[in-house]
Amino acid sequence: IVEVRHLNKSFGPREILRDINFTVCKGDVTTIIGPSGSGKSTLLRCLNLLETPSGGEILFHGQNIGESANIPAYRTKVGMVFQSFNLFSNLTVLENCILGQRKALKRSKAEAEKKALFYLEKVGMAEYVNAKPSQLSGGQQQRVAIARALAMEPELLLFDEPTSALDPEMVGEVLNVMQKLAAEGMTMIVVTHEMAFARDVSNHVVFMADGVICEEGEPHQLFEQPKSERTAEFLARFR
Ligand code: ATP
Ligand code: MG
Repeated sequence: IVEVRHLNKSFGPREILRDINFTVCKGDVTTIIGPSGSGKSTLLRCLNLLETPSGGEILFHGQNIGESANIPAYRTKVGMVFQSFNLFSNLTVLENCILGQRKALKRSKAEAEKKALFYLEKVGMAEYVNAKPSQLSGGQQQRVAIARALAMEPELLLFDEPTSALDPEMVGEVLNVMQKLAAEGMTMIVVTHEMAFARDVSNHVVFMADGVICEEGEPHQLFEQPKSERTAEFLARFR
């Protein structure tokens, strides 16, 4: 459903992404791994239109999303989950999950509530509808953020290091939710340092270094027989 072609991104004179090409099909779980500063977040932000690419194109169902006519529809079909949850602290869990549906999708209050409850249930957070984010643990907040994204019923969900801000004992509950979504066929692109998730849950791994895709492939191939020295070196750090 997504095809990235010759994507470039510069900030001023600095080239951050160079000639990025990859394809994501429906139901794919693609993980993006790589050292800090390699451009992983920038790539996700380009996919999410939080950044404007400097060159190349991103096709969604064959349509170039850089063309302004396609932007609003695209935005509602691509969800994003951030490292830092980004919930609205003044709103309850339920309100957080309703806001976007009301604003962007123009759903009725009743329908938005129904969807919100359905997805909060899915992530195991239905009993916290009236809580404020500050009353929740990091893992719970992140699960709410996932429910909020799901409530929009996106075709593609982007995750930028969803477990990096969590205490170790909470990482598992969030990864479990993501694994469940993957099993249900959700199309996801996940930037992560959780190598076990990349290896066991994703069906495609992209290794980035210095703004380029250094290597990509199926998890077992990339983890067990990396073709590039650079990949092997990076993976060795996690052993
Ligand atoms: P990390 O694993 O630490 O999250 P990353 O792979 O996500 O790293 P990016 O955040 O995409 O890396 O950053 C890649 C490079 O782009 C970095 O050198 C960063 O300083 C630079 N960069 C990112 N955003 C901007 C910006 N808005 N303006 C200028 N430079 C930026
Ligand atoms: Mg990043």
